[in-house]
Amino acid sequence: TFFIHRCRSRLGRCRKLARKIYKQFNTMSGRPLKIGLTGGIGSGKTTVAKLFEKLGVPVYYSDVETRRIINTNPQIKANIIKHFGEESYINGELNRKYIGGIVFLDSSKLQLLNDLTHPAVAEDVKNWFAKQTTPYAIEETAIIFETGIEKNFDYIIGVTAPEEIRIKRVMTRDNLSEAEVKHRINKQMSDSEKMKRCDFVILNDGTSSLESQVLEIELQI
Ligand code: ATP
Repeated sequence: TFFIHRCRSRLGRCRKLARKIYKQFNTMSGRPLKIGLTGGIGSGKTTVAKLFEKLGVPVYYSDVETRRIINTNPQIKANIIKHFGEESYINGELNRKYIGGIVFLDSSKLQLLNDLTHPAVAEDVKNWFAKQTTPYAIEETAIIFETGIEKNFDYIIGVTAPEEIRIKRVMTRDNLSEAEVKHRINKQMSDSEKMKRCDFVILNDGTSSLESQVLEIELQI
């Protein structure tokens, strides 16, 4: 046991050193490390992302930027109208209720909507990362493993919380019923499956300090 412990701690130190060298190299080359921040609905991704922002780390909020692109990119607008109809936009803004009603019931339509928007969003994220001048920058997004984009990141941070807490938080935030939240959670990849594939995991159960977990990761990246 003693030998295994020593090996593990040496391995841990080697990893930390390798990360430091890698980070230094990236800083010198002017290329920030690309960090993905993910987790299920209501896990606390945005809350955690804001803490990183407080430390001066730039964050790309995928949801917000996707909405901006859908509302402003003329090619995407034309394609969405072509496939989903004129009602897709009201006063130039995506009619989320109308589109949501369609894609919620038909997963092939959801796939189509993703296919229409994904290339422009991917390009936008790429350009955004390239413009950052900090040692690392973060993309906050609910879906990484589902779309196979994990290879785009140097590290992935997962945020997790017990399901009953997530349900309560989303019910309050979005004014939804318990059944509606559960339905959304069940449509996503399970949190435990996601967390297994993350390099760092933050537990947002309301008792563990988020600030200290963020600081710990900041030291390790
Ligand atoms: P989504 O995937 O739905 O966008 P998210 O993972 O980004 O969700 P947040 O929006 O950060 O999650 O958090 C969900 C709700 O829970 C928010 O209203 C937030 O203020 C609240 N919340 C998150 N973490 C905590 C916490 N530690 N204590 C109290 N409330 C919290």
